[in-house]
Amino acid sequence: MKKDNKIIRVKDTVIGGEKPVLIAGPCSIESREHIIEEAKALKELGVDIIRGGAFKPRTSPLDFQGIGFRGVEYLKEAAETVNLPFVTEVLSEDDVDRMIDYVDIFQVGSRNMYNYALLKKIARTNKPVILKRGFSATIYEWQMAAKYLEEGGNDNIIFCERGIRTFETETRNTLDLAGAYIIKEKTGYPVIVDPSHGTGKRELIMPMTRATLALGLDGVMIEVHPNPDEAISDAAQTIGYDDYKKIADYVGKFHED
Ligand code: PEP
Ligand code: MN
Repeated sequence: MKKDNKIIRVKDTVIGGEKPVLIAGPCSIESREHIIEEAKALKELGVDIIRGGAFKPRTSPLDFQGIGFRGVEYLKEAAETVNLPFVTEVLSEDDVDRMIDYVDIFQVGSRNMYNYALLKKIARTNKPVILKRGFSATIYEWQMAAKYLEEGGNDNIIFCERGIRTFETETRNTLDLAGAYIIKEKTGYPVIVDPSHGTGKRELIMPMTRATLALGLDGVMIEVHPNPDEAISDAAQTIGYDDYKKIADYVGKFHED
C-alpha cells in the first residue's frame, strides 16, 4: 500500500523533497586536515550533507578500523566550518549516548541492520537515521528493521540501498534499484542509493546516479577522496573531485529540468 511521502529536515537540508540530496565524503576520515580540506572542497562543489566513517565495520579485524571517536569530532568541526550537516556510522549501542550530541544523522551500516539492540537504542533518540540495507536482507526485513525505529518513537528514517550479495562477482554487490523503488512505494520514507558500495566500481557511480534520479528516488551517497587511489579504505569505489563535480552538476541540472 502506498504511503504519503515523508520529508526529513536536517539543519537547512530537506531529504525527501523536490530536490535529490547529495551526500558525499570519504569512506574513512583519515585525519583532521583531510576531512576539513575535503569538506571545504565538497561545499564548493555543491554537496548537501558530508559523510565520513570514524568507526569502520571492516570484514577483517586486521584491516583499518577507523580513527574512532576523534574522527567524529573532526567531522563535526569540518561540517561546522562549511555550515553543512553530516552523517557518520554508529557501530555499537554503547556509542549512541556519546555520539548523540555530535552527529546530525546516525548511519546504521549494512552489517548492523539486524542489530535490534542498536536500532532500539537509536529509536529512543530523535535523530534522523540512514538505515542501510543488510547485504542479505529482503525488503521485508529491511522494512521491519525500520519498524524497530518507528515503534521506539523515531520516524526520522532514510532508507539507503547499498547493494545486496548475489552470485555475481563482476560488481562488489548487486545494486537493487528495483528494491529501492519498492521500499519507497511501500513506506513513503526518503530512499537514497549508495552506488559506491552498491557496485564497488568508481566508473559505475555516474550511471547508477542517473538511474537513481530517473526512478524519482531521494538522492545518492557517494565516496569521494582528494586522492581516490590513496584512500585508506574502498579506493576502487571512491571518486575524486573532478568526477564528483560531474555528478553534482548532473544532479543540479536534473533538478532544474
Ligand atoms: C559505509 O557507508 O561506510 C559503509 C561501511 O557501508 P555499508 O554499511 O553499506 O557496507
Ligand atoms: Mn566504504
